[in-house]
Amino acid sequence: MAKLISGKEVSAKVRAQVREECEGLKAKGICPGLAVIIVGNDPASRVYVNNKKKACAEVGFVSEEYALPEETTQEELLELIRTLNNKPEINGILCQLPLPAHLDEKEVINAIDPIKDVDAFHPSNVGRIMIGDYHFLPCTPAGVMEMIHNENIDVSGKNCVVIGRSNIVGKPMAMLLLHENGTVTICHSRTKNLKEICACADILVAAVGRPKFVTADMVKPGAVVLDVGINRDENGKLCGDVDFENVEPKASYITPVPGGVGPMTIAMLMKNTLMAAKLQANA
Ligand code: NDP
Repeated sequence: MAKLISGKEVSAKVRAQVREECEGLKAKGICPGLAVIIVGNDPASRVYVNNKKKACAEVGFVSEEYALPEETTQEELLELIRTLNNKPEINGILCQLPLPAHLDEKEVINAIDPIKDVDAFHPSNVGRIMIGDYHFLPCTPAGVMEMIHNENIDVSGKNCVVIGRSNIVGKPMAMLLLHENGTVTICHSRTKNLKEICACADILVAAVGRPKFVTADMVKPGAVVLDVGINRDENGKLCGDVDFENVEPKASYITPVPGGVGPMTIAMLMKNTLMAAKLQANA
């Protein structure tokens, strides 16, 4: 039976550390501030934005929400970002993705001042991650690493397999495991012999976006299984990319969905915002 890595517990620890550091900064007259931009009426984005605001309040940050209508133009959005880039009380800027189809996501990400890019999506921050000289890490992969560290799992020399190669999860995830000396394989929809590759993994990260994609026959006995996926199963119930029920008895550690990687993402956003405030104040 696997040990469950609770994202609720680990994220609470991270938030408590951030809250404590935030109090220290406030004593020096520095109050971290996060601006969250949301364009349109996507209900899932609304939930994420509300959760981010709640987390800010809990750790003691100021948060500002900019809810823009669906028909916002690219120039209006860029103008807001320019204003926030120049606003000293705002240390972190986050533009909730996906944006409505008529907006150019890439240009929006590029417009955010890299020192306020708490999602770590700006090409300059992505490049810094590549060379291992970074201030911010993308929140979801950073959250997975935090869970690994919290259990004192040594990545060095381990076969690590990441399923998924998106810019926000798969690729940076692989890079972070590589920085810790894992032997990393990235799999995707064109990968041949996916099952066999996964079955060799000591550490398996699933970031596919397909319910119960990772089945027990893809998992090495004793593997550490980290499930990034957030999906709905055939009954509309929240589930991950891993067939939890059948994989759990085989793994040494596993993250549940919900209550696994999900809560870590917001906690790491708080950590990045704190870092942004410290960098901008030279604190
Ligand atoms: P993307 O859709 O951007 O990427 C999915 C990746 O999975 C792609 O690289 C794709 O390959 C690969 N893939 C799809 N089908 C297969 C297959 N049959 N075999 C092998 N690989 C496959 O998703 P994201 O990376 O953004 O997100 C992944 C999951 O994580 C989603 O469920 C998402 O909701 C969740 N998520 C959770 C977060 C959290 O806070 N817990 C945060 C962000 C995401 P290819 O590139 O070849 O198309």
